[in-house]
Amino acid sequence: MTYQNFSLKQLQDIDAAHHLHPFTDHKDLRDAGARIITHAQGPFVYDTEGNEILDGMAGLWCVNIGYGRDELADVAYAQMKELPYYNSFFRCSTPSPVLLAQKLAEIAPKNVNQVFYGSSGSEANDTALRLVRHYWALEGKPQKNRIISRKWAYHGSTIAGTSLGGMEAMHGQLHGAVPNIAHVMPPYAFELKEKGESDHDFGLRAARAVEDAILEAGPENVAAFIGEPAMGAGGVKVPPESYWPEIDRICKKHDVLLMLDEVITGYGRTGEWFAAQRLGLEPDTITTAKALTSGYQPLSALLVGDRIAATLVEKGGEFYHGYTYSGHPVACAVALRNLEIIEREGLIERVREDTGPYFAEALEERLAGHGIVGETRSFGLMGAIEIVSHKDTRKRFDGGGAAAVAVRDHAIAEGMMMRAVGNTMILSPPLIWTRETIDMACDRIVRALDKAEIDLRKT
Ligand code: PMP
Repeated sequence: MTYQNFSLKQLQDIDAAHHLHPFTDHKDLRDAGARIITHAQGPFVYDTEGNEILDGMAGLWCVNIGYGRDELADVAYAQMKELPYYNSFFRCSTPSPVLLAQKLAEIAPKNVNQVFYGSSGSEANDTALRLVRHYWALEGKPQKNRIISRKWAYHGSTIAGTSLGGMEAMHGQLHGAVPNIAHVMPPYAFELKEKGESDHDFGLRAARAVEDAILEAGPENVAAFIGEPAMGAGGVKVPPESYWPEIDRICKKHDVLLMLDEVITGYGRTGEWFAAQRLGLEPDTITTAKALTSGYQPLSALLVGDRIAATLVEKGGEFYHGYTYSGHPVACAVALRNLEIIEREGLIERVREDTGPYFAEALEERLAGHGIVGETRSFGLMGAIEIVSHKDTRKRFDGGGAAAVAVRDHAIAEGMMMRAVGNTMILSPPLIWTRETIDMACDRIVRALDKAEIDLRKT
């Protein structure tokens, strides 16, 4: 690429003239100009100005093995030379999606042995929604098609993804959601737990909101419950330990399928291949994308449980659904090598036994006591820091999420990439982080919190 011939200002002007960014206030961005990241290595990204930034978000929850892996570039190059593309329609296949499917069946929960490929998490959730409703129709129960989801859930940005998700602002711009999807309270103890209520009891209450929605519709009309093991984009909302076992019990009791969205938690982030394994769940579908290739190629895999797969194969006939890039050979070849690297380097064990617990401890010991922090929480290598103006009452700063944006901006200036969601700072580091990297991140975050507090108390 020859971007070196362009100044930052030139690139920003061209960007403003021609590029509509995702989830962006375009006017705002045009006034400010985009930060342009040019290269990356290990846990760091670098911008046009040569700033080195520790990437606390693993790109967008995806670069689990870190940047600069020549091995993946070599695999992609070799696959592109041999066979850059062929489709998997019309009784065709290519080797890499076949071998990847075998690998995915090996690492997935025991009841999951089939894979449907796409290019993004949103596409995979479209597939999941269609497949689940199709399943019940094939079982002779077409009316059993309501889906229960949660407020604050994020399941993608296509029409189906937005409808499944529980983001009010997104729904406001949908102008016609996919029908028959209900959203109940999320298991977000920090804001929703009542005075004197234990985490355990709150978790049960949040799960019972799902049961109430099932009973209200009538179980004979409810196809599935969908949830992220811990809500990611909604603010790393980690449910109390009582929540998932109760959800599992409720789904089984009412014969409601369990759809787990592991687009963020899949491929090691929580210290197991899938959070389903950590939580002891055997979901009927598991949506995965992102870290399947560590973001080096766009690829998603909807993992399909035996119950749905058996019906689809035995009674289904043709399933009228698929994407040009379902099973893309280059993306699948890269995914296979990515999974091999995760295994070879013991990254999942590292998260489970070392960096996950250390991360939780570091957030608690180094950040939770800060004057503008109301709580820290984590789930493997996903973390959240709640920003408050009064620690005791958990009162927020005025101005919506402006306080968290102030923390984020100071963090980036300190060389720490993290995200602000509402009043919550979120982290999702690559699995290659060590204890030293976690210490470095905490040093930078403390400095950002200190500086933000000075600004925020002034205004
Ligand atoms: N589900 C979850 C839980 C996600 O976090 C995301 C993306 N952040 C998606 C689905 C959608 O994935 P994509 O952006 O690849 O379409």
